[in-house]
Amino acid sequence: MHDLGIGLIGTGFMGRAHALAFNNAKAVFDLPLNLKLAALADADPQRARQCAQSWGFEASHSEWQQLIDDPKVNLIAITTPNHLHFPMAMAALAAGKAVYCEKPLAVSLAQAEQMRPAARTAGVVTRVGYNYQHNPMIQLARDMIRRGELGQIISFQGEFSEDFMADPASPWSWRCEAAHAGGALADLGSHLLAMARHLVGDVEAVCADSQTVHTQRPVSTGASEQRVIAVDDHVHALLRFSNGAQGTVSSSWLKHGYKNHLSFEISGTLGTLAFDQERLNELRLCRVGHCGFQRLLAGPELPGYAAFSPAAGHQLGYNELKTLEVQELVMAFAGQGGSGTDFEQAWAVERLAAAIRLAARERRWVTLTEL
Ligand code: NAD
Repeated sequence: MHDLGIGLIGTGFMGRAHALAFNNAKAVFDLPLNLKLAALADADPQRARQCAQSWGFEASHSEWQQLIDDPKVNLIAITTPNHLHFPMAMAALAAGKAVYCEKPLAVSLAQAEQMRPAARTAGVVTRVGYNYQHNPMIQLARDMIRRGELGQIISFQGEFSEDFMADPASPWSWRCEAAHAGGALADLGSHLLAMARHLVGDVEAVCADSQTVHTQRPVSTGASEQRVIAVDDHVHALLRFSNGAQGTVSSSWLKHGYKNHLSFEISGTLGTLAFDQERLNELRLCRVGHCGFQRLLAGPELPGYAAFSPAAGHQLGYNELKTLEVQELVMAFAGQGGSGTDFEQAWAVERLAAAIRLAARERRWVTLTEL
């Protein structure tokens, strides 16, 4: 069996999730390639060393370029703040390495416009961390929609809200800088836009309204010095899909009570499906002629669930979704395809987000072909 050498950049929230997913994928799936945790890089050399040791990587670097130059590394996993995705992914592609980049793809449509052809030219596998799509219940929803079980799709009503920035005393972070990240729409909304496209299809026009409720935040926890915040923290948009369906999406990091509320209702002429990531093992379904919703619970009849548990109702979690994402990535690398989000699809998410920002700024409907 051939080795697939993994190089991981970043050791924060997502660095850890990727490391777990690579280790879990080896343990859970019969993969066609041997995942080799070749090297890890972080700007903090001590943390890079510590994490490499505890997560099972053979080497650590403090300069990410060293990891790209490492001949043992075939695939670069990027889990750094958003503004670093572009230089890191472009360098990896130039070196002919596969890229597994965290979402969103980039901090501007202009960057995404360069990453898309670069991926095509490199001819390598690219994937972006829209992990929620790898939930077996989301695959079930997609299959039901494709089989026509909901009839003609009429509407997608989606929301991705959290409350981690609801307190105005929550400090500034890289997520609050337009040049480094792009606000709630980029942080949370990108997942929702990717999901809407995954389930319903391309969007052709949008209008939107966004605002920054907390226009300044402490520079760090408890500090009196404040920093001006210019990115959106609350966004609403209307969508018109190419297939004629209508959509609403909203995204907020200020909404008290919600921790990971990526949710949607999809209605068709024959039924409605509803999902909430805070109950990720469930779908709610109402078919025409039935009074009220039926609760569908994840179980081993779904292969992605069966890989982890032979018993229904024992529940998958966030890290299992990441493991399923890695499995699909490895299968793609082995030429056995899949439905993961590549740079082409992720560019389309960026274009949609850019259209929403433009529509909010200019207070009008924007067709995506304008961008
Ligand atoms: P984080 O701040 O916790 O971690 C960022 C890491 O990058 C840190 O380890 C930091 O030291 C490292 N880093 C920064 N600059 C570096 C450099 N020049 N060289 C090497 N390492 C460097 O951030 P996070 O929450 O893990 O977010 C990282 C990415 O993951 C973001 O793009 C974010 O949008 C994405 N994310 C995705 C999900 C998801 O569900 N897919 C969830 C959270 C975050």
